[in-house]
Amino acid sequence: MPGPGEFELIREYFSSRFQTEGQPNSGAQGYANQSVVLGIGDDCALLNPPTGKILATSVDTLVADVHFPASADPFRIGSRALRVNLSDLAAMNAEPLWFTLALTLPESSPDWLEPFARGLAATAHAYGITLIGGDTTKGPLSITIQVTGACDAPLRRDGASAGDRIFVSNTLGAGAAALPIVLGEIDGSLAQQQQQQQQSEAAYYFPEPQFAVARAIGEYASAALDISDGLLGDLGHICEASGLGAELDLERLPIAPLAQSVKGERALETALTGGDDYQLCFTIPEQHLSALGALQLPITAIGRMTAESGVRCRLHGVGWQPSGTSFQHF
Ligand code: ADP
Ligand code: MG
Repeated sequence: MPGPGEFELIREYFSSRFQTEGQPNSGAQGYANQSVVLGIGDDCALLNPPTGKILATSVDTLVADVHFPASADPFRIGSRALRVNLSDLAAMNAEPLWFTLALTLPESSPDWLEPFARGLAATAHAYGITLIGGDTTKGPLSITIQVTGACDAPLRRDGASAGDRIFVSNTLGAGAAALPIVLGEIDGSLAQQQQQQQQSEAAYYFPEPQFAVARAIGEYASAALDISDGLLGDLGHICEASGLGAELDLERLPIAPLAQSVKGERALETALTGGDDYQLCFTIPEQHLSALGALQLPITAIGRMTAESGVRCRLHGVGWQPSGTSFQHF
């Protein structure tokens, strides 16, 4: 049986379930977003930006078998696709407003579209972001999402000063440790490995954009970004943008339990260069350290910014060189 045609597909899986019933184009299900004048269905969405705010916008493409296994549960693909984009908003300390979805599908299959749209809608609902439009084309499976949010005081990469302390949120290494298990390269099916399997799937398909940490550090941080390609490389972006370098004390690195259990002795390296963590890395000027400490956030100081360029690592005071580098497409 052939699947739905292009317009039926858009109506069935996207416009109908992302809009309030009886109020076409007024926003998403139950959390109608007042800023959407006109949502899915016309040539453009019409938007009413919040007054006095700066808009933050970002786009990311997820290509099948590059950014997720093509055969993965579509609900989880929908979740991951939106979460990794939301992480960019969190990294700027922007509150989610709207997103668009450009979907390239090899076929129009309800068995794929139904759970994908559910995963996307559940995530959109959880983070209060509204789908306002998109594009649907035929070809190899690929998902492009553009997110837009609003902020008062954006957290940029270029604001750090020498001497600022470097922090990361939560723990690192879970995303990279999860990858071989999610890809089925390590067998997670044995009873003693089931916990690793579950933790891996949670880390990989349900990463948590760090909005709460971003809000809390907003008034103190001098620079910030989300760690998508590995701490070492991403911290390098703050260094470059700020015209500085950094030194890290690796014994301080908060390593994810999953990285420890899967990677063993290579856990440190995984936490340092592995991608897919979506935690925040940020810098705090000395004078704000005590105010920040009083907030009791899930963050760890791991080093400081230096006038000398390049990122230098020490382990218990001894210079340390990782064997890998952060992820790059080319
Ligand atoms: P146009 O021909 O003007 O480019 P389309 O036919 O591509 O418009 O899309 C019709 C409407 O459906 C537009 O409002 C568009 O934003 C929306 N749309 C198309 N594909 C998607 C999708 N995958 N998700 C959400 N909205 C979509
Ligand atoms: Mg048009």
